Amino acid sequence: MPIHFIPAFTDNYIYIAETPKGAWIIDPGCADPVFAWCAEHQRCPSAILCTHHHADHTGGVEALVQRFRIPVYGANQRIPQLTHAVRAGLLALDEESLTVLAVPGHTRDHLAYVWKGALFCGDTLFAAGCGRLFEGTAAQMFHSLQQLARLPGDTAVYCAHEYTLSNLRFAAQVDPENPIIAQRQEMATAQRARNAPTLPSSVTLECASNPFLRCHEPALIRSANTFDPDTGDDPVRVFSTLRRWKDHFS
Ligand SMILES: [Zn+2]
Repeated sequence: MPIHFIPAFTDNYIYIAETPKGAWIIDPGCADPVFAWCAEHQRCPSAILCTHHHADHTGGVEALVQRFRIPVYGANQRIPQLTHAVRAGLLALDEESLTVLAVPGHTRDHLAYVWKGALFCGDTLFAAGCGRLFEGTAAQMFHSLQQLARLPGDTAVYCAHEYTLSNLRFAAQVDPENPIIAQRQEMATAQRARNAPTLPSSVTLECASNPFLRCHEPALIRSANTFDPDTGDDPVRVFSTLRRWKDHFS
């Protein structure tokens, strides 16, 4: 079950998941690189899956539908050309079964898709980071991330952006004694130097080094309270403080 990376814009990834009966395009922010991939590999996609409505994840939907006449899956009509509104639960597609998770926070109706040990999480979970809170609350995002953290540890995490190195800089600042962060920085720097993706990550790796999944750890509680002394040790409040800090971190 190969999963292909199609880089788009400056730091997006569109994914194509090849199944025995089809090929799904996940979060096509634009169409041209997908057309190029399909021509090169002589494959026609069978469906589009969208995690959320932002244009850098859906901008290519209309042109792809025009060309291939394929169904579009997503949360609701905020996804252009939507043909199948899906909600949390099982989704049958091309004789495969996917698990759909509702992960509000970045947007209020953000979805994640799990298929055969691969997680497509859009802008909810990033390698060593998480999405900004555009529509949801800190508590919603915290619980969405916890839901992803409970997936099997070897679940491969396919995020929609290549943000790993900048996320790791923040992780090193807020969790300075964590040796896994330094290891990841070294590996990700080498990967980016040869223009390779730093993804997929894994749930185990994220739980060990992603500050937004580690809000219960003393080191993160300490750091959050240096940024905002009113934080305390409640994990949702720690998450909220870290997210606000990251919004202004450079
Ligand atoms: Zn987004």
